[in-house]
Amino acid sequence: MKYVLVTGGVVSGLGKGVTASSVGVVLKACGLRVTSIKIDPYLNTDAGTMSPFEHGEVFVLDDGGEVDLDLGNYERFLDVRLTRDNNITTGKIYQSVLEKERKGDYLGKTVQVVPHITDAIKDWIESVAAIPVDGKVGPADVCVIELGGTVGDIESMPFIEALRQLFFSTGPDNFCLIHVSLVPVLGVVGEQKTKPTQHSVRELRALGLTPHFLACRSAQPLLENTKQKLSQFCHVSAANILNIHDVPNIWHVPLLLRNQNAHEAILKQLALLRVAIPPNLQEWTNRAETFDSLTSSVKIAMVGKYVGLTDSYLSVVKALLHACIACLLKPSIEWIAASDLEDESAKLTPEVHSKAWETLRNAACVLIPGGFGDRGVKGMILAAKYARENKVPYLGICLGMQISVIEISRSILGWKGANSTEFDEHAPNPVVIFMPEGSRTHMGSTMRLGSRRTLLQSADCITAKLYHNPEYVDERHRHRYEVNPEVVEHLEKTGLRFVGKDESGQRMEVLELPSHPFYVGVQFHPEYKSRPGKPSALFLGLILAATGQLEAYVKTHQNGSI
Ligand code: GLN
Repeated sequence: MKYVLVTGGVVSGLGKGVTASSVGVVLKACGLRVTSIKIDPYLNTDAGTMSPFEHGEVFVLDDGGEVDLDLGNYERFLDVRLTRDNNITTGKIYQSVLEKERKGDYLGKTVQVVPHITDAIKDWIESVAAIPVDGKVGPADVCVIELGGTVGDIESMPFIEALRQLFFSTGPDNFCLIHVSLVPVLGVVGEQKTKPTQHSVRELRALGLTPHFLACRSAQPLLENTKQKLSQFCHVSAANILNIHDVPNIWHVPLLLRNQNAHEAILKQLALLRVAIPPNLQEWTNRAETFDSLTSSVKIAMVGKYVGLTDSYLSVVKALLHACIACLLKPSIEWIAASDLEDESAKLTPEVHSKAWETLRNAACVLIPGGFGDRGVKGMILAAKYARENKVPYLGICLGMQISVIEISRSILGWKGANSTEFDEHAPNPVVIFMPEGSRTHMGSTMRLGSRRTLLQSADCITAKLYHNPEYVDERHRHRYEVNPEVVEHLEKTGLRFVGKDESGQRMEVLELPSHPFYVGVQFHPEYKSRPGKPSALFLGLILAATGQLEAYVKTHQNGSI
């Protein structure tokens, strides 16, 4: 196994994830099989308990792993399916070491950070790197490892030490270290400053690691003399100083690397030149350029709870982007804080309230993404009602589907007390209820997580047509509550159709309103499997419906082609 380690210095948020995944893309374009590992030095065992407000979305994998959103970047860029073990955290490592300690596996030895924690890290990396993630058999050729945080953080020390040892044991031909850094421009003179990079490389070297490459982030392209300076002071040859300057969209990043011959230099470092082919990045070039040239856009109202930090819905945003670009449109996402639509907001902040409604009314479609807790639920119900009554294309994801069920139960069935037991434990009409797959009492493991099969009840529904599959869809889940099977019959009397159910027939997975141009609610999260060039079926449906192209699309693609 060959490893490419990506570390970061100077400041966080430099786009280490995008750099690391772009390196993966370029290597993949050279005919290599690539996998990836993200190391998060925090103590949480996984991202499942982390607030989207603070940490961005929780990404969900096929195996139900709740992981850092960077894993989503890897899956999208490399078109792979990762496992929960591809995300290593300090919490997971300590947990495994402590479990072994309790079992007596250390035979009475003193258990220490070095060597026990560091050995556990190395073993974890080596075994996870060997898991095939691209649907083929056998391990990949290259594993890209991204070390989260910035070099020098106390938390990342054991990882740096473990990686240093890994480098030593795999040998120089099998290891390549790329350090991502920032070259800022300061003052009136506008000089590109190399000192922060020098300091962070010095820090890295003090820890026993010397970078083979620098990937310098900058606003403008690096000047030749900046490169020379960096090379001289950081002990990296000028040819290995890569520059990722600001670009109009992230799909340019792999192209930028290719244009600087990064692939050749990396392949040389890894002694892979002989087996690789010249990079084929035609699809990436087309996508990056197409996106830059798009002129029309489509307005999508995103009605949610965490609208302050757009990373909270990163995969939904990406899925919209993939669907829009397939329709040659730019997404114009109009964020609406659900609570601003509520009647209370009209009293307290009338301007905010009317602005939110105006935004909703001006949008071509409405999307209610997943969420937890009751904040904003009233506003979401109003938005779903608005979309249903005004025949505005609507996609409700997870919580968004549950909102539809509550709204229709209240408005059409007249069940005033209809609610989810998540929001009102003693709701007179519990239309959405807690339906754990496992234990009812142990909260930690009650979430329905990961890929599950949904059986489509008829080939004639819009979902089947968009997925080009009359029988089933496999999508990822992350929820506790579901439509109460006892109210399904009543709901179907209103014209609503539950067109997708799980294998038991008890869990409602997809709802549609055939009398509406596009009204779809799904209990799963289709956004996680959307890829550039392979947009998620329902997101595509939403955008096609929003722009009046859905019918034509369904007609021309009856036989399965996209
Ligand atoms: N809170 C809801 C549930 O647990 C919806 C979850 C979600 O939207 N991901 O079922």
